[in-house]
Amino acid sequence: MSVCKSKDFSYINKNIPRLQHIPTWWEGESLYGLCSRLHMLSGGRTRSDGYILFGREHSCRIVDVPSGMARFVHATEGLLGSTEVILKSRTVVAAYWPFASEATRRQLIDAANDVIATPIPIVLGLPASKFGSYHPLRYCAACHQDGLSRRGYFTWQLSQQLPGVWWCPQHKQTLEQVQKVRSVWRQPGSESLALGSPKSDAEVHALSLMQALSSTLASLERASPIGLGPDGHSKCSTYGQSNCSTPVPVN
Ligand SMILES: [Zn+2]
Repeated sequence: MSVCKSKDFSYINKNIPRLQHIPTWWEGESLYGLCSRLHMLSGGRTRSDGYILFGREHSCRIVDVPSGMARFVHATEGLLGSTEVILKSRTVVAAYWPFASEATRRQLIDAANDVIATPIPIVLGLPASKFGSYHPLRYCAACHQDGLSRRGYFTWQLSQQLPGVWWCPQHKQTLEQVQKVRSVWRQPGSESLALGSPKSDAEVHALSLMQALSSTLASLERASPIGLGPDGHSKCSTYGQSNCSTPVPVN
């Protein structure tokens, strides 16, 4: 698997306190999910946890890809992965990575590392695209209840945050979506709105296809031991079309 070289951001980590406890990833957990869970476990203040993790007191407001990832890797002592690994496996960047050139990937990593860099959606050109640049928090109410029953807690799942995903293939129902941005580390189950049930089998089919395609795209980099390489765009398109009816979970 190829690894993108990025700038040295070690200078921003001087004199920054480290975490008292570094949790391990839960299966399928997003970066925001881990931070929200860590905040709950630490019992710390929202602003101070945001500052320790990402160098910004209001980091909790950015629910998809926060800046200041160099700080996060430093605070977690690299135990949860490098910036590149986390971007590709724990954030919505996973769905865009296969389409990005090597140069764009380097820009993505640099932008994610720097606290004051260009926002990730702009690096990806999302504001000008049909997809838009908004990746709200989403979760499945039934998955949420299952998680509470089994572990007493349900964490945000990356597979339910990916662009184009409004459907839970396990429970055959639409997701709930958090509507308002607030300065808190949110947990699933509050201040969300159900996205509404599909009105026909055709809508169910479309929602299922979108969910499967997005999950497949997000899993491509990990599925290929050699990465996609320079011609990743065409390979990705072929793979996505031929497997769009088979959901691939993000673990
Ligand atoms: Zn579900």
